[in-house]
Amino acid sequence: MFFRFEDEQPPEVVVEEGRYLVKVNGQLDGDEELEIPVDLVVLVTGMVPRHNDQLIDVLKLPVGTDGFFNEIHPKLRPVETVMDGVFISGASQGPKTLAESVASSLAAVAKSAALVKKGYVDLDPYVATVNPDLCLWCDKCQEACPYGAIEKVTVADKEIAHVIPSLCKGGGVCVPVCPEDAIEITGYTDAEVKAMIDALIKESAVPVG
Ligand code: SF4
Repeated sequence: MFFRFEDEQPPEVVVEEGRYLVKVNGQLDGDEELEIPVDLVVLVTGMVPRHNDQLIDVLKLPVGTDGFFNEIHPKLRPVETVMDGVFISGASQGPKTLAESVASSLAAVAKSAALVKKGYVDLDPYVATVNPDLCLWCDKCQEACPYGAIEKVTVADKEIAHVIPSLCKGGGVCVPVCPEDAIEITGYTDAEVKAMIDALIKESAVPVG
């Protein structure tokens, strides 16, 4: 059993009728006071994540509110991150036993080996593209991109944005922030989305008469 409690209301260990009782207001039990009879009380230091700001910055990995690295899904994709090719394991994800850490490390190694052994990487076809004629390098798309997929390049003495296809996830947050309408997602260009809307309207139009 695992009980969460508020920092201001730590559990108490009391002795009643010669028995140890742990009293705790369980956060997940509607703050109800629980009394748990125990034979032995063992105090351990809570595990906290290392301050990894530099690594987080380089790898662009999301961390949870507890400061540990976040996997995509704890059960379905337990060692994968939103950054392709970056895997996490062990206590970087949260407190784990030695056996759990070894198991997740082996899973991460297997995932990495599968990528490397394949010999090539499939890129997402739906990535952003920049129109070099319209772009004036205002930096807004680079600021908006959570994956660091946009860099500044100089083409014919003009500074413009360039999308790094291997980092782009096609999330599209760069599109609405561009004041010049210079950036679009392949497969979801303005013209294509407009054509889809027109087709939908045409399809759902009620015939008159
Ligand atoms: S937001 Fe638009 S204009 Fe600004 S750098 Fe990006 S693509 Fe260029």
